[in-house]
Amino acid sequence: MFTKILIANRGEIACRVAATARRMGIKTVAVYSEADANAKHVAVCDEAVLLGPAPAKESYLRGDKIIEVALATGAQAIHPGYGFLSENAEFADACAAAGLVFIGPPASAMRAMGSKSAAKSLMEQANVPLVPGYHGDEQDADFLQTQADRIGYPVLLKASAGGGGKGMRVIEHAADFKAALASCKREAISSFGDDKVLAEKYLLRPRHIEIQVFADTHGNCIYLFERDCSVQRRHQKVLEEAPAPNMPPERRAAMGEAAVAAAKAVGYVGAGTVEFIANQDGSFYFMEMNTRLQVEHPVTEMITGTDLVEWQIRVAFGEALPRKQQELAIHGHAIEARIYAENPEKGFLPSIGTLRHMDTPAAVTFELGGAPGTGVPAAVRIDSGVREGDAISPFYDPMIAKLIVWGADRKQALARMAQALAQYKIVGLATNIAFLKRLVEGDAFAGADLDTGLIERNQDSLFPAAHSAPSAALALAAVALIEAEKDAAAAQSGANRADPWGQALGWRMNFPYARALSFSDDYAAALPAKAYGVAVTYRATDWLFARDGGEPQVLSLMQQDGSDLSIKLGDTAVHGTVRRDGELLHVFTGGHHYPLHYNDPMAHAGESEAEGGRLTAPMPGKVVAVLAAKGQDVKKGEALVIMEAMKMEHTIAAPHDGLVEEILYNVGDQVADGAPLLAFKAAA
Ligand code: ADP
Repeated sequence: MFTKILIANRGEIACRVAATARRMGIKTVAVYSEADANAKHVAVCDEAVLLGPAPAKESYLRGDKIIEVALATGAQAIHPGYGFLSENAEFADACAAAGLVFIGPPASAMRAMGSKSAAKSLMEQANVPLVPGYHGDEQDADFLQTQADRIGYPVLLKASAGGGGKGMRVIEHAADFKAALASCKREAISSFGDDKVLAEKYLLRPRHIEIQVFADTHGNCIYLFERDCSVQRRHQKVLEEAPAPNMPPERRAAMGEAAVAAAKAVGYVGAGTVEFIANQDGSFYFMEMNTRLQVEHPVTEMITGTDLVEWQIRVAFGEALPRKQQELAIHGHAIEARIYAENPEKGFLPSIGTLRHMDTPAAVTFELGGAPGTGVPAAVRIDSGVREGDAISPFYDPMIAKLIVWGADRKQALARMAQALAQYKIVGLATNIAFLKRLVEGDAFAGADLDTGLIERNQDSLFPAAHSAPSAALALAAVALIEAEKDAAAAQSGANRADPWGQALGWRMNFPYARALSFSDDYAAALPAKAYGVAVTYRATDWLFARDGGEPQVLSLMQQDGSDLSIKLGDTAVHGTVRRDGELLHVFTGGHHYPLHYNDPMAHAGESEAEGGRLTAPMPGKVVAVLAAKGQDVKKGEALVIMEAMKMEHTIAAPHDGLVEEILYNVGDQVADGAPLLAFKAAA
């Protein structure tokens, strides 16, 4: 077996590969960029070598440098993970030329599957079902239009060289064909340098079902059943599960055999995924083959009790597949949720920042392929590339973790997923956790009413109008604040807590201390943000609590353990966790997360003058448009500057009516996170 491998990736997949290598007694070499010097994947590997600056082009995509590092450290093989160099045939060739083993398929198989059109022709010869369409070389517009008319609308145009959901156009009517073709070709040439397109029937309410295949160098090729990845947003997977709900065994076998035929047709070796698009009636068609390990491979591992990375390494070393087709069976049900630093309420805008607090679900057994010796898969598995205190940077994918649960059946897996999501508490940046929870608990997913339009169709329930924070959350926030003040006062006076002068008990002579606390929804998470007025009256051993001028209720603290609080509000016992991050109080209670802004009257005294001037970059990025000029009077809400960060545009608008005093950046300039973009003076 190899004694040392290099992992040419970062984040959770690098950590995941390292875990298997360690279990197999193989030493690991990490590579990293300047942005990742303190990253988890560097810490978990035996050695680590710096590649270069943060941008992937100068670090993780530098195949030449990675090969040099492998040779210098004595690694015999390179595991590319997914993304970056994993489907790069030239890199695989370069590894071979340097005498290194590329842990992946042969370069020829990657090339064969690299073009969607060429792959389809190959699949046609191998009798793998294809979506009705045209994928030939003839690219004349009139000819393509006749093909589209023949296929029947709606028709989907795809860039042959496309990927990542780019270069696709849905055409509803023949009259729109020519314009859509031109725009598809423009995008294809600018994104992939190749304007070849294919046309196919656009399926309505399709499901995305993919088959995990594995082949070795001894002529064995098997399938490890299917994954259903229908829950997508903008053609990107959000939830994945195995097995696919409502899959009859005969169809599973037919899809598995078609996938094996696809792999054999290109002389495949290693782990691969054949993606199919399926109609609601069960008919299925080849879409493409991903010639690498997939992000969602853990659900397959959980239901088959395998470690696919171990299989990859063994196959790359020349061993035969550890199991035969007949030795594989589906055991239970697994679901994966991708936890992202992003804001679903704001169009899934990535969120950059530091993971100040991260509580992960209890009872996690990170055991690939099951709890050792028991044959029982772990109930909850987390594959993560970050720890508490780490940052999510703008340079790479903003994934925080993959949360994978296993249950004896889908119902149990769903319940475990909902519970694990409720236990995931992250403070410091926006996440999609609450959205995922609504998704797994919603009727559509719970009822397995799956197709790629599920999220879009259920907008109303998945993005509910912002609810007011419940009194329980406000009471928890108030108690947390008051208790923290007591601790701070005691610490400051250095006195023990029995000294009345060293305490912040709110004691007043002759009358009780009534205090107004002001909270509002975190404006970054909810728009429009609501404000809450909380009145707290201090009493000997408890308080009276009233919100927004309502009836007072007795409030008392029952128990406190760090940031975990048990309180009683009226007759109701409430339990929750309150984490403070600057002026934000993150209240977690009843499975919900309420980020509340505490409007501290002391903190902002004297700041009002500067307020108008705080027009800063929300994240590092590039200025793409400056819409206002120096000396210009603008109205509140008027767009002033547009930035591009993480492939999305962000508009910086005037917070009030006022005057643009100075523009600090020009179009094309790079700006840092929090940098002032312009000087602005609010009108009096
Ligand atoms: P990419 O390589 O860009 O990811 P794919 O060909 O894999 O493109 O398709 C991505 C997604 O687009 C699929 O998961 C599915 O949601 C949708 N899609 C692709 N082909 C069709 C089709 N013929 N009809 C309907 N939806 C499709």
